Amino acid sequence: MHEIIFLEPVFKEMIWGGTRLRDDFGYEIPGEHTGECWAVSAHPNGDCTVKSGSLRGRTLSGLWREHRELFGGAEGEVFPLLIKIIDAKADLSIQVHPDDAYAKAHENGSLGKTECWYILDCDPDAKIVIGHHAGSREELRQMIDEKQWSGLIRVLPIEKGDFFQIEPGTVHAIKGGTLILETQQNSDITYRLYDYDRLSNGKPRELHIEKSIDVIRCPHRDTAGERVLRKIGGAEAEVLIACPYYEVEKLSVNGEADFEPEESFRIFSVAEGKGSIDGVELRKGDHFILPAGYGGYRLQGAMLLIASRPGSGQEKGRNC
Ligand code: ZN
Repeated sequence: MHEIIFLEPVFKEMIWGGTRLRDDFGYEIPGEHTGECWAVSAHPNGDCTVKSGSLRGRTLSGLWREHRELFGGAEGEVFPLLIKIIDAKADLSIQVHPDDAYAKAHENGSLGKTECWYILDCDPDAKIVIGHHAGSREELRQMIDEKQWSGLIRVLPIEKGDFFQIEPGTVHAIKGGTLILETQQNSDITYRLYDYDRLSNGKPRELHIEKSIDVIRCPHRDTAGERVLRKIGGAEAEVLIACPYYEVEKLSVNGEADFEPEESFRIFSVAEGKGSIDGVELRKGDHFILPAGYGGYRLQGAMLLIASRPGSGQEKGRNC
C-alpha cells in the first residue's frame, strides 16, 4: 500500500498579501505581505516537496515524472492541478484567463486556466469581482476605452463558505479582506485587465487589454455547479463542482467516517479543525495526497476538508 504524501507548501510575497497564513494557519511565512501559499503544486515557480516518510524531500513534479503509479497512471506532461490558499489583505488586479485553445495558439502551447474559489473566511462586508455588465464585445471594448470601470465590473457580496467556479473568459478579482482556497488547472496564463490605476515601484503593472478583450465571455454568464450532498458515517460530503479539469468536494467531518477506495489519486486540504486519517494526525493547514490504490480510508475528528481529484477530461488526457 502506498503511503499518504504530505506536502510542504511554498509561499509567495505579494503587494496585496498579509499575515493570515501565519496568524490563521500557523505557517512560517517569509514576510508581512505573504499573499499565497502554494499548498499542492508541481509548478516550476513553486514545486512542493514531500514533508515526511520514505519520499521525504522529493518534489511533486519529480514524483509525477518518475512515480506515475502513485497517480494511477494518469496522463499528461504536467501534474494537472494546483491548490493555493490566498490571503488578500488588499484588492488583487482584475483579470481573465484564456481557455486551452486560445492559450495554445497565443501562449506557446500553454494550457488555459479554469479555477474555483472556496471562501475560507472574509470580512463582514467583503466583496468579490465576478463578471461584467457589457452586453456585447463592442460594448465591452467601448467601456474599456472610456475607462468606465465601475459601470463595467460586476461586484458581488460574499460570505464564508461561498464557492465560485471561474471559467476561462470570466472577469474576476479577489478583493481585500478575503481568505480563499483555490483549486485550479496547473497554469499561469493571466491577462490583467485593470489594476485600479495603482503603482508598483512607481510604475503601473503591465495590462493585457487586447488579449483580455479577445477572451472575455460576452455577455457574462455565471457557472453554478449542482451542489450534491451525501452522508458517509459521521461526515457530510458535498460536491462543489465537477468539470472536465477537476472535481472539488467539501468534507465536513464530525466523528468518524469510512470512505470507499478511490480509483484516482486524491488531494486534501484541512481548512478547519483537527482529526486524523487512518490514525495519522491532521490539523488545519495540512495538505496531502492520497495516492491511487491507497484503498479505503477513515477520517476522524472535527474538521473541514476540501478535497479534489482530476476531472474526467484531464484523467483521460483529453483536451476538453
Ligand atoms: Zn484567476
